[in-house]
Amino acid sequence: ALVLGLESSCDETAVALVDNDGNIISSHLATQEILHRPYGGVVPEIAARAHVERLEPLVRKVLNESGKNLSEIDAIAATAGPGLIGGVMVGFVTGKALSLACKKPLIAINHLEGHALTPRLADKTLSFPYLLLLISGGHCQILLVKNVGEYRRLATTIDDAGGEAFDKTAKILGLGFPGGPAVEREALNGDPMAVPLPRPLIKSKEPHFSFAGLKTAVLRAYQSGIYKRHDIAASFQQAVIDCLVNRSEKALKKIEGENIQINAFVIAGGMAANQAIRPALTDLAEAHNLPLIAPPPSLCTDNGAMIAWAGVERFRLGMIDNLESPARARWPLDPHAEKARGAGV
Ligand code: ATP
Ligand code: MG
Ligand code: FE
Repeated sequence: ALVLGLESSCDETAVALVDNDGNIISSHLATQEILHRPYGGVVPEIAARAHVERLEPLVRKVLNESGKNLSEIDAIAATAGPGLIGGVMVGFVTGKALSLACKKPLIAINHLEGHALTPRLADKTLSFPYLLLLISGGHCQILLVKNVGEYRRLATTIDDAGGEAFDKTAKILGLGFPGGPAVEREALNGDPMAVPLPRPLIKSKEPHFSFAGLKTAVLRAYQSGIYKRHDIAASFQQAVIDCLVNRSEKALKKIEGENIQINAFVIAGGMAANQAIRPALTDLAEAHNLPLIAPPPSLCTDNGAMIAWAGVERFRLGMIDNLESPARARWPLDPHAEKARGAGV
């Protein structure tokens, strides 16, 4: 299979061509960081307009670079949600148009499934089932990945996502946008023990997450004027790491308690690009006799290859969509967990 993937659910316009073996033939991305920086966050209307301008040139660039034309491609995969609906519609409608024009099947990709399956693109030995810590700008979940399209959600956040906490902390500390990489850089010279910060939910029975209280504590620490900025950044990052490790351990134990055999502990999503969080999670995985599998940073944050790859995985299984398929602002990977939830849990 040779699949063209389109991504436009947030602030990166991205296109890639990926083959059956997971070779990334060509992959290009246009980030909108400078457009949103003045607002300290992604402005949906600006994002949607920027996707309109950038998507088609990127498609041409990827096709040119790979020396392929549309007739040589087996399917068009496009993000159909979840995300900022204006941007999602731009990419998904473009995918439908390409599918119609070149008479190739359309595959509607759940952006979160793109993140969830990318570790299999990065490491060809990774087979189902695996336990996934999905940490991105809008999500913080622990999922049992049973197969393509088959997910069981063990945990989610009751308020903010992890990446969102990084972004808000960056804003408080005046480190700019996007926040994750900025906080990671600032933390390099800081003392992770300098500032006492909470580890929300660390004692709770279910492996859920909460980051809103941590953000408020960061704000108070900053306003107190007592602490150095790099110490706050390092202490914040450490608090997040402690929560990730503690919650993941809870989930691993739950899986073991149910006698479910898994092949790896896996991390994915934008926050998984953070190099400081990997060692602690590697130790955790090893303690449970599992390898830690984490894609390279460029495949953790949004990109076109993750959508094309999810398209390859679906195409191989005959999972094709039609032109009536809707764009969705919300689209959980595990609909059962979503239905059972109270306040996001
Ligand atoms: P979602 O995938 O949930 O729809 P998204 O697509 O906007 O959200 P991603 O692109 O997957 O999110 O990830 C972006 C998030 O990752 C941002 O919140 C960003 O701050 C965070 N992030 C990126 N790099 C790092 C890093 N090095 N350390 C911590 N966080 C990071
Ligand atoms: Mg982004
Ligand atoms: Fe994402």
